[in-house]
Amino acid sequence: MTIAEKLQRVQERIALAAERAGRRAGDITLVGVTKYVGVAEAAELVSAGCFNLGESRPQELWEKHVELERMWGSAASPPVVRWHLIGHLQRNKVARTLPLVSLIHSVDSERLLAAIDAERAKACGTGEPMDVLLEVNTSGEAAKHGLAPAEVEPLILAAQRYLRVRVRGLMTMAALEGGEAAAARCFAALRELRDRVSGNVPSGVTLTELSMGMSGDFEIAIREGATLVRVGSLLWE
Ligand SMILES: *Cc1c(COP(=O)(O)O)cnc(C)c1O
Repeated sequence: MTIAEKLQRVQERIALAAERAGRRAGDITLVGVTKYVGVAEAAELVSAGCFNLGESRPQELWEKHVELERMWGSAASPPVVRWHLIGHLQRNKVARTLPLVSLIHSVDSERLLAAIDAERAKACGTGEPMDVLLEVNTSGEAAKHGLAPAEVEPLILAAQRYLRVRVRGLMTMAALEGGEAAAARCFAALRELRDRVSGNVPSGVTLTELSMGMSGDFEIAIREGATLVRVGSLLWE
């Protein structure tokens, strides 16, 4: 199968999962995760119609971003790619990353929020705030990044002081162990947390986005309310 055919398959499965859940497929964004492949494959994915790309390592994102710009630099109407940082962001990589990304899925501390805010203020003064999601460790597994569920509401309240950052929702990774039932519990927990916190935060804050679901569990995530699914392996294997 070509990359275009694999993409089409994933898109069909997203549409079907949405339909089963009584949701509109258009409300779910596929982020094509390019961390396993080079820039040629990433470009092919974009050409096939996937305009949201995700990388978990900032350096990889920088490199692919530069190479895609170079590839398409001379094109009459180069495709507009929205980059998503889905992995851990160290504060010393904030400055280079911010200008390249549309959404950071992985904010997990006030220190990182503050660093993003400061950098955004420096770079564009009164420009648009940076959109971020808070990463939540819903499985409780020690190896996972992310906030404990109880830390989410305090951080959203603290985030009100950082005017150049806008928290748009939450992100999680399912438990590694426990199969579909455990994944479903993690995703439902994220949605319930979002619903609960939404009632307690200032009225200007809208936690619309739920980033959850990967190749092995995106249909379950859609059933539980995902608005962003991060799919890698299925597009490349
Ligand atoms: C790698 C990765 C994915 C994609 O995982 P697949 O199982 O290959 O689809 C999604 N989210 C994050 C945070 C990742 O690191």
